Amino acid sequence: MKDYLTIATVEGVRIYALVTTNLVQQVTKLHHCSHVASAALGRAMTGALLLAATMKDKERVNLRFVGDGPIGEIIADAEGSKVRGYVEHPDIFLPPKNGKLDVGGAVGSGNLVVTRYLLNAEPFTGYCELKNGEIADDLTYYLYKSEQTPASVALGVLVNPEGEVVVAGGFFIQAMPGARDEVLAKLEDNVLHIPYVTQLLKMGYTPEKIIGTLGEGLQVDIKESIEVGFECRCSRQKIADALGALDKSALQEMSEDEITEAHCDFCNTTYQFTKDEIRAILNRK
Ligand code: ZN
Repeated sequence: MKDYLTIATVEGVRIYALVTTNLVQQVTKLHHCSHVASAALGRAMTGALLLAATMKDKERVNLRFVGDGPIGEIIADAEGSKVRGYVEHPDIFLPPKNGKLDVGGAVGSGNLVVTRYLLNAEPFTGYCELKNGEIADDLTYYLYKSEQTPASVALGVLVNPEGEVVVAGGFFIQAMPGARDEVLAKLEDNVLHIPYVTQLLKMGYTPEKIIGTLGEGLQVDIKESIEVGFECRCSRQKIADALGALDKSALQEMSEDEITEAHCDFCNTTYQFTKDEIRAILNRK
């Protein structure tokens, strides 16, 4: 199955569901993630795509899970249908908790910081304390607490004993103003009675079928589906621009080295600049 996201309305409620197995496999391999780091990063990137789906094209959302646990910071960044992310300590190992990967233990307690980069407006940053470090609950809690949006977020990444990502995906239920109480109650009941999202995906459920299951007994109206994937927006030019923003003394110092290396944490790419290139940047200042 390709990675894609489906948007539907269910009697005044918007439901987004997506499968992200391929992109989570790709990114967690790129960062050499352990089992628990794969689950944490996969959930965070899937969540970022869900929030980005509620925004306009070219708008961007950045999630930072800043906890005191051994994984360090988790960063996920989505713009439209593209996402990227990384974790500070991708190689951590934690024993499973109740037979499941202990993402909450890896993240610990701290804050979730959400920045939305909007078109025609200043970026908006909100934050709240982490609910339990399990990512989905933290996002649900953030949306309620900081953005006054009642929503329900579910995220799942299944990792096999060899450390490979088997399935990944999630859904997001967002009540629109005027949604009827009985519809919300029915959805809430459906959410409680369906299997985990990883189980659904393992059974081969598509995003449409997940939405159909969530909206059982209600009028489900599928709107559209969008392909999603990993993409890093970094480039040599962007790094050069960032170097150009440094002060002269820092560039002067760099220009004494044969090679200056700049690393993009999102895609693990290292860009090299020769001393002549650094001098050229310096001269342009
Ligand atoms: Zn990059």
